[in-house]
Amino acid sequence: MRRAAFLDRDGVVNIDYGYVGRTADFHFVPGAPQALARLKKLGFFTVLVTNQSGIARGYYTVQDFLTLTAYMQRRLTAENAAFDAVYFCPHHEDGTAAEFRKACPGRKPAPGMILAAAAEYDLDLEHSILIGDHAGDLKAGAAAGVGLLYLVGAHIETEGAKLPPGAKIYKDLAHLAAQEFCKDA
Ligand SMILES: [Mg+2]
Ligand SMILES: [Zn+2]
Repeated sequence: MRRAAFLDRDGVVNIDYGYVGRTADFHFVPGAPQALARLKKLGFFTVLVTNQSGIARGYYTVQDFLTLTAYMQRRLTAENAAFDAVYFCPHHEDGTAAEFRKACPGRKPAPGMILAAAAEYDLDLEHSILIGDHAGDLKAGAAAGVGLLYLVGAHIETEGAKLPPGAKIYKDLAHLAAQEFCKDA
């Protein structure tokens, strides 16, 4: 079994402008690609787990999301930092697109995407980490049994009060990687 690093996307990997659906709006958080490369070099299997209710809400399509994901992965590949797996939940119970209108067990704070990845790739959740910018991300990790939970990003003051026990807080992914995973990688 491999240990994994589960990462939320918007607000962790890229700047969260709200429902980012197109490449023109995708800008990496400074240092995030290098931090991802470090995690991979240390042996973490990197998994993106992202709620994409913008699809259910009709703001962009599944194809837009996949196009953006391919763009992100090309950029990350240049830094040896591409995600090993990508999971997304296009659903929301208030969605306008009937096809995607439902309460989904994959949508964080539910643990469905993490559990699906663990089953598909034989991941050791107890020795895995999860990094998010909202308490709901960390709650999904806690519900799945992920061993170490980290909050980063712009909302640490408001979200920090709602975290599962044992969670740690850093300014951003770069600071987290530098301080927690600096061993000669
Ligand atoms: Mg986020
Ligand atoms: Zn879903």
